[in-house]
Amino acid sequence: MLQPVRGFDAELPSPVEELHDAALARHDVRLLLKRDDLIHPEIPGNKWRKLKYNLAAAREEGHSTLLTFGGAYSNHLRAVAAVGHSFGFNTIGAVRGEDHAPLNWSLGFATSRGMRLTYLDRSTYRRKRDPEVIATLQQQFGPFFLVPEGGSNALAVQGCAELPPEIDTGFDVICCACGTGGTLAGIASGLHEQQRAIGFSALKGGQFLAGEVAKLQRQAFGSTSGNWRIEYDFSFGGFAKRNPELDRFIQEFKDRHGLSLDWVYVAKMLYGVFALVEGGQFEPGTAIVAVITGPADCAPTP
Ligand SMILES: *Cc1c(COP(=O)(O)O)cnc(C)c1O
Repeated sequence: MLQPVRGFDAELPSPVEELHDAALARHDVRLLLKRDDLIHPEIPGNKWRKLKYNLAAAREEGHSTLLTFGGAYSNHLRAVAAVGHSFGFNTIGAVRGEDHAPLNWSLGFATSRGMRLTYLDRSTYRRKRDPEVIATLQQQFGPFFLVPEGGSNALAVQGCAELPPEIDTGFDVICCACGTGGTLAGIASGLHEQQRAIGFSALKGGQFLAGEVAKLQRQAFGSTSGNWRIEYDFSFGGFAKRNPELDRFIQEFKDRHGLSLDWVYVAKMLYGVFALVEGGQFEPGTAIVAVITGPADCAPTP
């Protein structure tokens, strides 16, 4: 069993809270928030689920070092640094782009948790799955357990499949944001027969995500589940882009419910959920779960 070497208090199962909102009542749908943002203060939401079995595999294979990839504000990179610190792994972050001096808050946090950073220029970063690029990193840093960008692999999908069974109220639909699709792949695999999942792409041109989700499900469980789909109309111009309409939604949501939303993923997903509700896409009586995959301070306001 995987044991932390330092205090690691994960709030699991994460809480489920019903959201009361006139817009939902008008359409006779219920919305429950699955608060994965509360799992751990240092690990952005769903990242614990995605890393848990990767850590176990790394330990089992005798590795003491984790290496992974991410952008300069990657939630995943910080999560790997934090879990490495708690579970006694050295961590190396291969960051896309130029050296950042001084470090931004995200990379600063990663190094404060012991992560060593190395920088890959954009063309090398694009080839990060090539054996050649990986071999160069191994020459530089010695042996490591490789966690892919965003943490999405079969083990991550298996970890995320544990989310739906934690919810003990009945529900019909579960919604989450998609970056690499690993979370959606896992959640959809963890549903009962009548339930379905909807992913909301945080990327513009995220149509490739459907193939990724299907592939990840096959890698994790041998087949795709066919009970999910992806909405592509709520990326607000693309990854880490925002506009006044999204900002207004975030402000109004905070005023009504006292909850600040992460704008890179979570607010776009919830905006989409409300848009589908308003568009009459859910039968009266439908119970929807929206997964709050991370906290508001995941991403800095530009
Ligand atoms: C990483 C992340 C996601 C995306 O998860 P994928 O499994 O890559 O699709 C969604 N929300 C938050 C807050 C994240 O940090």
